[in-house]
Amino acid sequence: MDDYESMLDEGREELPEEVFEGKRFETPSAETTKRGNRTVITNFSDIAKKVNRDEKHFSKYLLKELGTAGHVDGDELVLQGSFRRGIVNKKLTSYCEDFVICDECNRPDTKIVKEKEVTMLKCEACGARKSLED
Ligand SMILES: [Zn+2]
Repeated sequence: MDDYESMLDEGREELPEEVFEGKRFETPSAETTKRGNRTVITNFSDIAKKVNRDEKHFSKYLLKELGTAGHVDGDELVLQGSFRRGIVNKKLTSYCEDFVICDECNRPDTKIVKEKEVTMLKCEACGARKSLED
C-alpha cells in the first residue's frame, strides 16, 4: 500500500505544475479613412483602450514608425499623408508585440513602469519584465 501511494506521488510530480489556459491575444485592427491628403484612424481611442496604453505613447510610436506628422483629434488619430490600412495595422501589431504582449507568457496584462529611470514593461500575469530602452 505504501509503495503504491509513493508511486502515485511520483507520477504526480511529473505533471506540469500548471496547465496554461490563457487565450491568445488578438491585436485590434485599425479602421482607416482618407480625408483629403490625410489618413484618419477612426477607432484610435478604442484601440488604445483595448491594449490599455496611453494614447500619447501609442500615437507617438505610430507617427514615428510611419514617418509622418499627425495628432489625436477626439477619438481619432489624424495622419498627414496617405497610408494603406495594411501598413497601419502592421505598425499596430509591432506596437503590441513591443509594448503590450509579454515575451514570457504572451498575455497582454502588462504595464509600463519606470524603475530607477529605466522604462520597463512589467507583466502582471507572470511577473516578467523587460527593458524598453533602446
Ligand atoms: Zn507574462
